[in-house]
Amino acid sequence: MKINVHAGHNPDEKIACGAVGLIKESTQARKVKGYVIKYLKAAGHTVYDCTCNNGTSQSDVLNKIGRKCNEHIVDIDISIHFNSGANDRNGNGKNTGTEVYVYDKSSDSYKAAENICKEIAKLGFTNRGVKTRNDLYVLNRTAPARKKALLVECCFVDDKDDANLYNAKKMAQAIVIGILNAFDSGIKKYSTRKINTFNVKGEKVGSITKGTTCNADMYRFINGYLMAHRKKNDNWVKAKYIR
Ligand SMILES: [Zn+2]
Repeated sequence: MKINVHAGHNPDEKIACGAVGLIKESTQARKVKGYVIKYLKAAGHTVYDCTCNNGTSQSDVLNKIGRKCNEHIVDIDISIHFNSGANDRNGNGKNTGTEVYVYDKSSDSYKAAENICKEIAKLGFTNRGVKTRNDLYVLNRTAPARKKALLVECCFVDDKDDANLYNAKKMAQAIVIGILNAFDSGIKKYSTRKINTFNVKGEKVGSITKGTTCNADMYRFINGYLMAHRKKNDNWVKAKYIR
């Protein structure tokens, strides 16, 4: 699978940077983006980083992101942002949460968008759901983008409850699982070497030889490892060892 990923806006401290609250959008989006790329590559996918760090204005940032995205024909195009507008700097005990935008309900990215909301909600964030937007440049810049793009608003930068709960690595893991479960399940794969098999708790239950069928029907992080579930055998293997 080929995937575009970018973090929104220019870097913090530059013109056209992202929202700043208790945490800073541009900085955190870049952290999450870094982990997302790392994990997707570990799962064997080709990932293009389309982040812009040298825009001269907001429209220049968008144009540069769009140009980079358009250089590749991809299966999915992921934009990582953080939301603002919660105005809860002291914390009221309830986070404002996550939402994901797609162009419309017929987008190829819709299922992944739903999955990402669900996975981020598992971390404790309020699920604000998948929303359709036809006025966002990254979602509507081209006909393919309309089909392939999604934009994650991970959580709110100006809500103390969101900021306290937020962890860049966990956020990235949720996004990656949402994507893989939508796009990379049920595909013929084989072990690339002799590998161990695990139960859902991450305890070793056996091993399989190189070339064993490993069609994954589901992905999950177990003890920090990206694992793929082998449906027929009901065990888990490290995703980096199957292709
Ligand atoms: Zn943003």
